[in-house]
Amino acid sequence: MPPDASSRRPEPRWHTAYIGLGSNLHDPAAQLDEACRRLALLPGVVLTKVSSYYATPPVGVRDQPWFVNAVAAIRTTLTAEDLLAALLHLEAAMGRVRTQRWGPRLVDLDILLYDNDVIHTDRLQVPHPEMASRGFVLVPLAEIAPEAYHPVLHQTIRQLLAQLPAEAKEAHKL
Ligand code: ATP
Ligand code: MG
Ligand code: MG
Repeated sequence: MPPDASSRRPEPRWHTAYIGLGSNLHDPAAQLDEACRRLALLPGVVLTKVSSYYATPPVGVRDQPWFVNAVAAIRTTLTAEDLLAALLHLEAAMGRVRTQRWGPRLVDLDILLYDNDVIHTDRLQVPHPEMASRGFVLVPLAEIAPEAYHPVLHQTIRQLLAQLPAEAKEAHKL
């Protein structure tokens, strides 16, 4: 008997999200390769684009190795909360141990944008609150999505990058 409309599963809704990736330990570029590989394998996630990798100076805690940063674009059926849980799980599975805040890390995966949603919960802030001041985020994000929109600042990524002071933009393509 064909299922009637009420018993049919609703079509999953697809969302666009941008994920910031960073690493400064144990061959950072290889960590980013592995993070992208695992990201693409997550159920409900399609990896659509990855920016170039950029070497960037540490911000906040200066006395640590330079970072390699990139941004990935994904399409996903996960909610933002479920996506965060999957990213934290992926970080842990790759061996990230949280010690010093903003200190050296094997891999960091942050949700930068999730559609044009604005989210403020105890566990999740979207857009990522620091993204507009971080060259290591805006440079790779502008490479793959210059017209992406910041729903709080009401500007595109291209516009945000143009306003960033030169000293905050240091990023060298690998
Ligand atoms: P920063 O947020 O300044 O980039 P960080 O990435 O080093 O610092 P983490 O230790 O990776 O910080 O994450 C700490 C917590 O931040 C996570 O457990 C998560 O609950 C929370 N968080 C809030 N908003 C986000 C977001 N947009 N993406 C990822 N984590 C977030
Ligand atoms: Mg971070
Ligand atoms: Mg993080």
